[in-house]
This record gives sequence, C-alpha cells and structure tokens, in this order.
Amino acid sequence: MAANDERPAIGIDLGTTYSCVAVWRSRDDRVEIIPNDQGNRTTPSYVSFTETERLVGDAAKNLAAMNPVNTVFDAKRLMGRTFSDPLVQNDMKHWPFKVISGPMDKPVIVVAYKGEEKQFSVEEISAMVLARMKECAEAYLGSTVIDAVITVPAYFNDSQRQATKDAGIISGLNVMRVIVEPTAAALAYGLEKKGKISGEKNVLIFDLGGGTLDVSLLNIEKGLFNVKAIAGDTHLGGEDFDSEMVSHFVLEFNRKHKKDISNSPRALRRLRTACEKAKRILSSTAQTTIGLECLYDGIDFDWKITRAKFEELNMDKFQRCMDQVEKCLRDAGMTKSKVHDVVLVGGSTRIPKVQELLQDFFDGKELCRSIHPDEAVAYGAAVQAAILSGETNEKIQGIVLCDVTPLSLGVSIRDGDMSVVVPRNTTVPTKMEEEFSTFIENQTDVIFQVYQGENPRTDDNILLGEFWLSDIPLAPKGVPRFDVTFDIDANGILNVSAVDKTTGNNSSVTITNVKGRLSKDEIEKMIRNAENYRDEDRKLKKKIEARNSLEDYVYKMKGTAKNLVLKSAIEDAIQWLDINQSAEEYEFVDKKNELLRIFK
Ligand code: ADP
Ligand code: MG
Repeated sequence: MAANDERPAIGIDLGTTYSCVAVWRSRDDRVEIIPNDQGNRTTPSYVSFTETERLVGDAAKNLAAMNPVNTVFDAKRLMGRTFSDPLVQNDMKHWPFKVISGPMDKPVIVVAYKGEEKQFSVEEISAMVLARMKECAEAYLGSTVIDAVITVPAYFNDSQRQATKDAGIISGLNVMRVIVEPTAAALAYGLEKKGKISGEKNVLIFDLGGGTLDVSLLNIEKGLFNVKAIAGDTHLGGEDFDSEMVSHFVLEFNRKHKKDISNSPRALRRLRTACEKAKRILSSTAQTTIGLECLYDGIDFDWKITRAKFEELNMDKFQRCMDQVEKCLRDAGMTKSKVHDVVLVGGSTRIPKVQELLQDFFDGKELCRSIHPDEAVAYGAAVQAAILSGETNEKIQGIVLCDVTPLSLGVSIRDGDMSVVVPRNTTVPTKMEEEFSTFIENQTDVIFQVYQGENPRTDDNILLGEFWLSDIPLAPKGVPRFDVTFDIDANGILNVSAVDKTTGNNSSVTITNVKGRLSKDEIEKMIRNAENYRDEDRKLKKKIEARNSLEDYVYKMKGTAKNLVLKSAIEDAIQWLDINQSAEEYEFVDKKNELLRIFK
C-alpha cells in the first residue's frame, strides 16, 4: 500500500453554500469523492443550533425554515473580514441570524443553543463544517484522518486565507496547505485528461456556484499552474437564480389568490427550497411542477414551470456571467482564441443556458465536462493532499502548484505612503527583502506597519499587522539601516521580519498581531470548545441509539406479548418513553434491561 492509504490525506472544498470532500486512493490510482451520512456527495455549509442539539450539513439546512435565527450559513462571506467591512454590512441585511461586532472589530455570530446564548467566531462555525467533512471521511475510510488540503477563492487575501487555516486547526485537522479553487479545478481537469498536458496551455476556469461567480485564467506549463487573472462577482450564483423564481411565484400567488406570502418567512423558505429543487430538475428536463401543501393561509401551492420561463427570469444574470468572462480575458490581455480549454466548475454550470452562452462566447468551442462540476475543486485538493503526503504514483508526479499574491504587500513609510515589497501577482512561495531607514533625527524606535493593496496611500489599503523595532542607537535620520523581509509560504501566509543592520544586531521581529487574526490562545480555547461539542455530539448519538434500541424492542415485543403482566409492562414502557424522550442514555439502557428481565 502506498503512503496515502495508510495515513489518508483529504482534500476539502469549503464552499459558501456546499462543501465537498475527496481522497486519493493509492490502491486504485484515482480520486474518490466521499459521500456524507445521507449518501450525498456535497454537504450544505450550514450549522443549526436547537434546544437539544447542534446539526451540521443537510440536517441543518432542512431546519433553516423552522429555526431561521439559529441556523448559520454563508460563513465564508465573513471569513477574515471585519464587522464594519461594507460587504459584511450589506450581507448582514439578508441573514436571519445575528452577527455582532466582537473584539478588534471581528464579526461574532450569536445563536441560542440549549436555551443559552452562545457566541461563535466565523472560524469556529467553519470548523464545525470542516469537522463534519472530516468525520464523513473517517467513517468512509474507516481510519482517523488528520491531514488535509483546504481550498479558498483566488481573491482571498492573507487574513482570509489565515482564517480558513485557523478554522481547519480548530476542527482538528492538520492543514497541509491552502490552495486556490481554480488551481484545484485545473489540477483535476489536467489529471482527468489522462496523458500529460503537452506544451503550454491557457485554461479558463468558469466557477458558478451557489452564491458567487469566479472566473480565472490559468497558464499551465510543465506541470506548473499559474493564475494569470481573476474576475467575478461575489453576489451572482445559484441562490440568486432561486430568488428570481421565488419572486416570480410570490407575484403569481398574489395575482391568483390576492394574498402576499412575502410576509411569512416560513412560507418563503419552503418556497425557496422547492424552487432550488425545481431549478435542478430543469437542468435535465424541459418542465416541472412545484407542489406545496398549505403554503399560506391554508392554500396549497401547485405550479408548473418550464425551463424557458426559468431562463427568461434569469437571462440578465446569465449575461452578467459572460461579462465577467470578457473582463477576465481583458485583464489577462488575451484574446478568446488563445484559450485552449474552458472548464466548468460549480453546481450552477449544470444549467444548460449557461453552458450554451459560454460556448457561444467561445465561438462554439466544446467545453470541458470530463469532471463533475460540483466535485472538481475537492478532487484537485485531494490530488494536492496526496502529493504533499508523499504519494509517488506517476500520474500525479511532476505537478507543481504555483499561486500568486492577489494583492501587493508592503509597509507604510513617511506619512503613510505605501512602499511595495512584494508586488501583486508574485508567484509564491517567495521571500523578498527591502532596505529601510529612519525618517526622524535620533529615532530609537521604528514601527513597521504591513499593508496589502494597490493604493499609493496606505490609508486606502488593508492593514495586516504591525510591529516595533526598538533600541536603535542614536543617529541622524536616514543613517540606520533595516532589512525587512517578507516571507510568504506555500499557503500564501505571510511573515514579516526586520533586522537592524547598522548595529550588526541580528534580532529580528515577526508580526505577532495581525489584525483580525486569532491568537494562539484563542485558537486553543476554540479547539477545546470544538472538542466539547464533538463530545456532546457523541453522547447525544449514543443516547439516541439507546432510545431507538429500547423503542425497537418495545414495539417488537408488543406484538408477541401474550399474558397480562407482559402486556402491562409494554404499556408502561411506551408511556415512560412518551414522557422521557430526552432521558439519559443509562436510563434507556436500564429500562431495556428491566424489560429483558421481565420477558425472561
Ligand atoms: P459553492 O458556491 O458553495 O461552491 P456549488 O458549486 O456546490 O457551491 O454550487 C451550489 C449551487 O449549484 C446551488 O445553488 C445549487 O442549487 C446549484 N446546483 C446544483 N445542482 C444543480 C443543477 N443540476 N442544476 C442547476 N443548479 C444546480
Ligand atoms: Mg465552490
């Protein structure tokens, strides 16, 4: 057996709406997508808190209508952002769950769990989704899983990548690397193409998911994957198509029954769920019906919808997708004829009209459909995980992933000018050094403020962190010399240090306080919390098993109980079960043992 079967390393696509996990199987030389406990190959990125339990995935999404304020989704939209970020403020308007501002302006999610108010960081919520993916993999593989590669969008900045990594750590994973989604998809596509990709290739990755569109242009040469340009829309995806359908039906319902369902969140959520289902069906059939009993005011909802109608409702949105493709090519300075392959990624690329428009845009070129669009990203992540864990299979040998810095990195100088050290689009990992000096006479302390962004003034860029260099010997301004090193590792995670050269003093400083990042202590606390939650889950599972086992026994014996003593024992047990649904595990076990004794 090769490395990866002994200590399997998994690939996780942590999506805004759906997540997917995959593994490389050495013994079969291929990637397998891992189904969840419901048998589904993708899992909703949802976490729901109730009076009695915490649910993740399909079960959580199913509760969204019943338990809206305690069902959390879209956590990825908050990842590595501050509460006051205008994007966060805007997204919040559409969320039924509560988000508040925490320490250092970090967003904090507030829910009621077991009758108590609980606060969670975005990393913790994402960790719950990741932990579920880990558990699915463990159940499927029958072994413990620790190592993982997790994917992030290409536009994620340093703090967003770091937050994703922290979420992985909290969930109990060793995050071997964070890679960008289009690269993962391209990797999957490259592998699926069997025979090595010959020569240089330009590949356009069109990823239309649940909430976002990401268009990326990659250059692949000699196993090297380079992201050349990215474009997209953070609010364009499957859920927007669902919304169009919902609005359409709200109007129709009003026209027919003179009633406005839009004031009932529950009716809307039920309608939305049905619309998503109908939309999926319309990708393979020309017409379908939506039936919902007692949707509003006791009125049933029964409607037909055709694929043509669905397309008409969303045509301008589909068109907007194509605009981003054009923009991506423009930014890369490439004509469409230079694109060798167009790869479809994301659940929403299953919509026939989207495929048609894309194919037309590329003058009738055949689109790559060899990999499943929902699974391509996880597939590529699994390949990368196998490579990192020492898999030697020739199929995946010689693949080197290259990522680039999405934004420039630098330090603030003088009165807040941005001095770029690592320019945008630099291939990582990288280490770059720059010399700086003082701006004031006899300056003994210097603050280094690290910024990310393209603006000449640091005020307009993102402050990533800062640190001081102290005890500089007295000297005129401009005389002391400091070497500042920017070190970006393969995960795209940044370390900055400074050395005072004038004194020969080798002391270097690294950033300890990246804004919005969790501290080591915080992460450790969150790991402990996550473990507690997993313990609770396990206990609950055992309890439910014990209850089910008692129930099964009672109802099985009910049919066979002949004499009065046995019959009344069964009746007693049924009554006891009715009022003790949430008893402890041992009580269910005791009760069953008691019955077993009587029946003997
Ligand atoms: P994410 O954006 O979280 O990465 P996915 O790429 O898995 O998510 O895409 C999820 C979206 O794809 C959802 O909006 C879902 O309704 C949509 N989708 C899944 N299957 C189909 C289908 N057969 N036809 C149309 N849309 C689909
Ligand atoms: Mg996705």
